Amino acid sequence: MRNREKKTYFCEVRKALPLSTKTEKRIKLKLNISTPGEFNFVRELPHDGVGLLRTEFLFMGRNLPPAEEEQYRMYKRILHENRKKPVVVRVLDIGSDKRPSYFKIPEGTNLDLGLRGAMAVEKFPHIYLAQMKALLRANVSSNLHLLYPMVSDLNDLETFRNVLSEAKKALEKDNINIAGVKIKEGVMIETPAAAMMIDILLEEIDFVNIGSNDLLQYTLATSRGNTQVEGRYHIMHPALLKFLERIAREGKKSGKEVCLCGEIASFEEFYPLLLEIGIKSFSVAASKFSDIKCELLYLQQSRDKIPVAEFYKLGSKEQVDEYFRRFM
Ligand code: PEP
Ligand code: MG
Repeated sequence: MRNREKKTYFCEVRKALPLSTKTEKRIKLKLNISTPGEFNFVRELPHDGVGLLRTEFLFMGRNLPPAEEEQYRMYKRILHENRKKPVVVRVLDIGSDKRPSYFKIPEGTNLDLGLRGAMAVEKFPHIYLAQMKALLRANVSSNLHLLYPMVSDLNDLETFRNVLSEAKKALEKDNINIAGVKIKEGVMIETPAAAMMIDILLEEIDFVNIGSNDLLQYTLATSRGNTQVEGRYHIMHPALLKFLERIAREGKKSGKEVCLCGEIASFEEFYPLLLEIGIKSFSVAASKFSDIKCELLYLQQSRDKIPVAEFYKLGSKEQVDEYFRRFM
């Protein structure tokens, strides 16, 4: 169906151009940043903002949590470097693949089931308080979009918000004035519960990010990144697409941004389908940025259509693979 040669030519011709076409005004392409080594890309690539700053790098590989001051300097750097655009900073997200040594957790606790997101905040509030204070102080250009991980309902949201108001109070007490600065709040949609609660969550917050890596893990009850069960973790499972479609639809109704920032957004071949179901904002690693940009530019001028209804009828991994072979 797709004219690959035409596409390659098209991308070669256009890849140096800044993002300024009609499509890109409508469709946003942002950057995922996971290490300070990637901060430079913020200057180099023509993006629509930082769509996901994973802050775990600050907390890993050390014996004690980073001090508020150290965090402040790091956040200020990225927020200032990108001061004319939004920077979505995710509050520390612990899990089995990201577990700081000083999070003392009883033997046998499954970090992926339970002790994530709000529950980690309740157990280690001082760590989250220091992080929120540092972020609030660094937000001098009002471009901070604060992102709460693993939120499944309004109780989870409240837990994060309580720490945020504690942080504001603590800064006031220290005579640090943040009254004039603005902040936007969003949540990661990465559990089936969050996907089903999307309408309620959207009423409370300014934007959502879809964490498809975890959403898939919890939808399929299969660990991500575990080679023993690799075959079951199918990156484009039809069940995931049904969730994505629902989230995009509710986002559109509410007029709030829905940004897809999981791995699935790094695959060019999925874009016709993702656009067709209404996802309009994506965030990808710098290494994938140019390829995805080319794909979006190409799709803007192509008349290729992908049959979404057919995709929804698929019932197995083999059928999904066959679908992409046939239509891509
Ligand atoms: C996700 O779960 O899709 C996501 C973007 O977050 P992380 O990969 O950091 O868990
Ligand atoms: Mg996640």
